[in-house]
Amino acid sequence: MKKRTIEDIDVKDKKVLLRVDFNVPLDDKQKVTDDTRIVKALPTINYLMDQGAKLILVSHLGRPKGEPSDQFSLRPVVEVLEKNLDKNVAFSPTVLDPVAQSAIECLKAGECILLENIRFYPEEEQNDPQFAKKLASLADVFVNDAFGTAHRAHASTTGVAKYFNDAACGFLIQKELEFLGAMAENPEHPFCAIVGGAKVKDKIKVISRLLDKADDILIGGGMAYTFLKVKGHQIGNSILDDEHLDLVKELYQQAADQNKNIHTPVDHIVANEFNNDAKIKSVDIDIPDGFMGMDIGPKSIENFLSIIEKSKTVLWNGPMGVFEMSNFQNGTFKVAEGMANNPNTTVVGGGDSVAAVNQSQKASKMSHVSTGGGASLEFLEGKILPGIDALSEK
Ligand code: AMP
Repeated sequence: MKKRTIEDIDVKDKKVLLRVDFNVPLDDKQKVTDDTRIVKALPTINYLMDQGAKLILVSHLGRPKGEPSDQFSLRPVVEVLEKNLDKNVAFSPTVLDPVAQSAIECLKAGECILLENIRFYPEEEQNDPQFAKKLASLADVFVNDAFGTAHRAHASTTGVAKYFNDAACGFLIQKELEFLGAMAENPEHPFCAIVGGAKVKDKIKVISRLLDKADDILIGGGMAYTFLKVKGHQIGNSILDDEHLDLVKELYQQAADQNKNIHTPVDHIVANEFNNDAKIKSVDIDIPDGFMGMDIGPKSIENFLSIIEKSKTVLWNGPMGVFEMSNFQNGTFKVAEGMANNPNTTVVGGGDSVAAVNQSQKASKMSHVSTGGGASLEFLEGKILPGIDALSEK
């Protein structure tokens, strides 16, 4: 780890600006429906409070488009945080005005305040330097533990860092880099990467990069039909990314040159319409006209599970089918189960696959479940994450 971590800095009696990712889902009564992201931030929050920091928590929630809105308020997070910490948490409905400043000045060592959604200010996403400077003036030390937004160069993730002598990462970012870094640099073999989800465009670069390191690439979900089309199969009305057929051809060439295997589904659960109550049937590799692939079929599941079982490292990003609909979640849940049964290194790389492992209650069986969909993909693609790059060197 080249970047400074919270264990490298002295925070006693210091005001610490901690960027967290509390971008949690809320229901229509403004209740937090999944507190995973809050729970993942607790080790860093507890450590800093125990070390005597005066903690100022900054986060975004949703996409409020640069203006205040009740719908995207972070206020509902206070209750959940208090319950998890078993401590009082103050809340400031503003970020930079004198009211927020005086609330921060009142903090004692070991206390914490959560500031309102930083994306209520348009300067946040614009990474406005003046805004970042003002934000930095609230504290003595900066800690970033928001892995989920580390791929964004915003004022509270990147802009603020340069105004501090001490800008360190928290335990969550440290853990993410440790697991994802091991996948990208030095995975134990055999290494199998499972990639699913809807869009080829979003994942083509990561597949190409993973091909360099992995022994087997398993392709499922909507993107598999673009791969099958390139191989000359009938795909009926399945989702197709016809703008990226050439890139998929290049991937097959890369795999052949590197003596690697790209495995695609050999059978499918298909439907005549994109809904759970459509007419459904199980078909072999070619999909008849009038039907679309909605999930991988039983033979494909068996193939994929046998590869997962023999792998020493398994990385997964993206569902194997339309898992939000109960008739098409079998492939995704079986992959989650296969990974859960593998005692070796198993990493779920963010996004919808995380929702799937949570839904199938397999998260605790994985070596690591990433909190960043976009951030983990960009990291695995080999891109520099600005939110981490901006932190102080050791
Ligand atoms: P992504 O954001 O690229 O990981 O895509 C996740 C989405 O892909 C989920 O909402 C799934 O419902 C969708 N998906 C998975 N399989 C299919 C499929 N066979 N056809 C259409 N959408 C799919």
